[in-house]
Amino acid sequence: MVQESLNPFEIAQRQFDTAAEKIGLDDGLRDVLRTPKRQLVVSIPTLMDDGSVKVFEGFRVQHNIARGPAKGGIRYHPKVTLDEVKALAAWMTWKCATVNIPYGGGKGGVTCDPKRMSRGELERMTRRFASEISIIIGPDRDIPAPDVYTDAQTMAWIMDTYSMTMGYSSLGVVTGKPVSMGGSAGRNEATARGTLFCIREAAQVIRRPVRGATVAVQGYGNAGAIAARLLRDDGARVVAVSDSKGGAYSTRGLDLGAVDEHKNRTGSLVGLKGAERITNDELLEVKCDILVPAALENQITLKNANRIRARIVAEAANGPTTPGADRVLKDHNVFVIPDILCNAGGVTVSYFEWAQNLQGFFWDEAQVNKELERFMKRAFHEVHQMSRVHKCDMRTAAYVLAVGRVAEATKVRGLFP
Ligand code: NAD
Repeated sequence: MVQESLNPFEIAQRQFDTAAEKIGLDDGLRDVLRTPKRQLVVSIPTLMDDGSVKVFEGFRVQHNIARGPAKGGIRYHPKVTLDEVKALAAWMTWKCATVNIPYGGGKGGVTCDPKRMSRGELERMTRRFASEISIIIGPDRDIPAPDVYTDAQTMAWIMDTYSMTMGYSSLGVVTGKPVSMGGSAGRNEATARGTLFCIREAAQVIRRPVRGATVAVQGYGNAGAIAARLLRDDGARVVAVSDSKGGAYSTRGLDLGAVDEHKNRTGSLVGLKGAERITNDELLEVKCDILVPAALENQITLKNANRIRARIVAEAANGPTTPGADRVLKDHNVFVIPDILCNAGGVTVSYFEWAQNLQGFFWDEAQVNKELERFMKRAFHEVHQMSRVHKCDMRTAAYVLAVGRVAEATKVRGLFP
């Protein structure tokens, strides 16, 4: 078996290199674009409920700001590393350029286990982290948002901490806030809705309707659970779902109401009545038309790629497929909607939220969803067109489009000093 690197930053650089090669980017510009602009590592001393003080490590990386302020989520997870955050920041740069919104790419993370922390501990850690990174964030500098195991409440604490320090309320410093304090209608569903819009377009390309299609979703969180619901509402049959503890499978289709009730009651998907228990690895290999990885990186690798039986892989997660697995999926004629396109609905509505905050004028949900559909469809077709011109897969095409846009902005700005 060939060994492949699972280091997310090496993978992100490899994906960039493929596109840079294709568009003949010169070596100097290549070096500029593959290197993060700023990396901040902070210690976060936090008072725990038992009176002890624990020091967490946190990161904020700004990969590129050629096209606008850095933009990207904050992740809380025991396995967060600087290299993971660097990769996620780079993917944000290419994602914002793919959907053509005026942002660069950034990302943040804290190495912690939020499931084992109380609300008070999470609030104190978040506020201290916000204070530590406040030297580089701001509405016109770098705008965080939710990611794995952070949510609207986390964003509210960051916004409040930043605002208290500045002495005025700064709504635009984060997105994905609660709607009651400057969040946008539709932001909570935006990542999944963007994925749905991409899947609809992909289904037309491969001439298989979403109605009646079978769907498997790995990662039943913000992106995954809402994607499952939206696909069901479009007439698809959700046959498998999973979270960090395992999953549930039924060829007849799962009743998502019962899934939600079971998850709320037991905290997991395992043991759902009328469904078979499956592992996360098994979920990826079930027979289905549409597979939605919506959890973490490196799920589809050289180890399992040749057992993937889906026709469409819709990457709601960031970095779920390794470059080696990409080649296998391409050989098997699987239509992969790459992460930097497929989950860009989240950052697109974050952009709408930020624009609404700066204007102080809010849209209703229908308008948000209509604009999101316009942005996602346009991006999908630009990427698809690029894949035809360059005779390449959708990921390479998205990178060619995105890297070209960021390279152009960098060239016209020129090298300072
Ligand atoms: P979330 O915290 O809401 O949900 C994560 C889900 O994944 C949870 O159900 C969790 O149990 C599950 N999970 C964790 N580890 C797992 C494992 N090893 N195997 C299977 N499931 C596991 O997070 P989210 O915001 O939905 O993010 C999920 C993915 O989507 C991430 O890759 C994230 O970067 C990406 N994403 C999120 C957004 C957003 O707006 N939230 C936007 C773009 C991309």
